[in-house]
Amino acid sequence: MEVKQIVSKLLESNTYVVSNNNKSIIIDAGAEIENVLPQTIGTKVEAVLLTHLHFDHCYNLLSYVNQFNCPVYVFNTDFVGLNPFTLASMFGKLTLPKNCYKSLQGVTKLNLAGLTVECFHTPGHSLDSMSFKINDCLFSGDTLFYNSIGRTDLETSNRLNMLQSLELLKGVTFNVCYSGHGKSSTYAEQQENIKYFLLEL
Ligand SMILES: [Zn+2]
Repeated sequence: MEVKQIVSKLLESNTYVVSNNNKSIIIDAGAEIENVLPQTIGTKVEAVLLTHLHFDHCYNLLSYVNQFNCPVYVFNTDFVGLNPFTLASMFGKLTLPKNCYKSLQGVTKLNLAGLTVECFHTPGHSLDSMSFKINDCLFSGDTLFYNSIGRTDLETSNRLNMLQSLELLKGVTFNVCYSGHGKSSTYAEQQENIKYFLLEL
């Protein structure tokens, strides 16, 4: 398995291409398609997973769906395109593709690209925040960052939910944490980080 990070021009959100032999999965859709496409060459993209629906994580989703013609996994399909979930009040309305979504609510495991994807609902930054564990890698969206955590003052944020999600992620083991913005972190760094914010938040 190989993980490639592509940083978007918009708010520097991270898109990840996780490839396994000749198949791949894309996590988040903020990065420009022309920068993502080269990282998928030689693989069939089986799915796009969205950590949440905030504007900067799905801004280029339409071009991904047109290019790869694959399903898009989100926490709850009912939330797609709703203003509080995309933060339309801050960024303006988004045009998202139709009829390609699959709901992750109640789903704990997916098999994609020959990999097992463990799915964790981790609300707090947003109601629809998901974290994904693939092999020894955790993809934490805007829940965990290097030396920080996601904002909890946005439209569908909830501080108590964040505390519960931090408790949940504290019990998940991994080697590398790939965040929705910024650089990756180690398990030890995240244990310290989570411990700090469980007390601070
Ligand atoms: Zn966000």
